[in-house]
Amino acid sequence: MLPAIEGGTPVRKTPIHYSHQYIDDADIAEVVRVLKSDYLTTGPDIDSCERKLCEVTGAKYAVLCANGTAALHIACMAAGLGEGDELITTPITFAASANCALYVGATPVFADIDPLTYNLDPASVEAHITPKTKAVVAVDFGGQSVDEDAFLSLKRKYGFVYIEDGAHVIGTTYKGKPNGSFADMTTLSFHAVKTITGGEGGAVVTNDENYYKKLLLYRTHGITRDPQQMVHEPDGPWYYEMLALAPNYRITDMQAALIESQLRKLPVFAARKKAIVKKYDEAFAKLPGLVVQQETEGSDTVRHLYILRLNRDHIRIDRKRFFEALAAENVFCNVHYIPVYYFPYYEKLGYQKGLCPNAEKLYDEMLTIPLYYAMSDQDVDDVIAAVTKIARYYAV
Ligand SMILES: *Cc1c(COP(=O)(O)O)cnc(C)c1O
Repeated sequence: MLPAIEGGTPVRKTPIHYSHQYIDDADIAEVVRVLKSDYLTTGPDIDSCERKLCEVTGAKYAVLCANGTAALHIACMAAGLGEGDELITTPITFAASANCALYVGATPVFADIDPLTYNLDPASVEAHITPKTKAVVAVDFGGQSVDEDAFLSLKRKYGFVYIEDGAHVIGTTYKGKPNGSFADMTTLSFHAVKTITGGEGGAVVTNDENYYKKLLLYRTHGITRDPQQMVHEPDGPWYYEMLALAPNYRITDMQAALIESQLRKLPVFAARKKAIVKKYDEAFAKLPGLVVQQETEGSDTVRHLYILRLNRDHIRIDRKRFFEALAAENVFCNVHYIPVYYFPYYEKLGYQKGLCPNAEKLYDEMLTIPLYYAMSDQDVDDVIAAVTKIARYYAV
């Protein structure tokens, strides 16, 4: 690792990392309340949190589940995706956005990103559509909305199931409406690094009753207790039926209570994150060696990730050395994401480098700097000072 530049002292004495959860006493009290109640799972806190998610996302129905990956899996099942079908997604995402196709025997197809917003490019999606295309998974990368108008018009033209991987998007609106009411199904994640957390947790939100019923079934073993859905007459009050093969992707009531408690703070989380992003944007605009993510038109964004990109015409070091130089200042970053098809598992399936040039170039030049609600003003100033120090020192 490089020493702090100029042999000087690091900007920060204590380390800061790219993300950290914020849990307050109200959150803890909610979890304890559930632990003392009758239901640890499949209880009233699940329903209550699902109602809150409908309110926040503007969707009619919400199905909480174990995590965001499970949400993508049951969304693909509900979409009827299977062998011989293709699912188009972005390589600049967490592996689950593409893996969900493989879980159901379908084939992931990678379309390229827009070089300025870093979101899936609708024109590249259109170029990859074939008669086998059954679904598109668009990711609101870093929290900014995908181009909903463009994807909805492609959906009308080609008839695929439009799934939005909204793991980053909670709190964001597109043209005044919250993300969650545009796609056929929108998946959410409540992993510990996300804006709203239950430790783990996920959900699918939808306006379609048919998808909703399937999602409920696929969340819990393909089993139903609804007599209207049954094939045979119930032979007693204990009776239930298994109609499909599906995993157990339920979430606990403790997590649901924590997620609902966190959702009550979403407006406060959102306002703070927007203020930090504004400060970052203003500071980094002055540095020619750095490029910031451009907004999708119409997106009023609550960022989950703050991405910095190097402009190699104006900075002498590459991403790895920039990352190390920040670490030497006690600012610990991350990289989101390694293009999914770079992974050995995908290589073995025959995917090769070169598929998505914009995504590959972005991957070489990007890093994720700290952004989370609980950052103090001093933390924000330190990150800006460290980034500025390095960008100036290595400027060309
Ligand atoms: C976090 C994340 C997921 C998976 O969510 P988990 O809750 O961790 O399973 C899926 N897609 C994206 C883009 C994510 O960031």
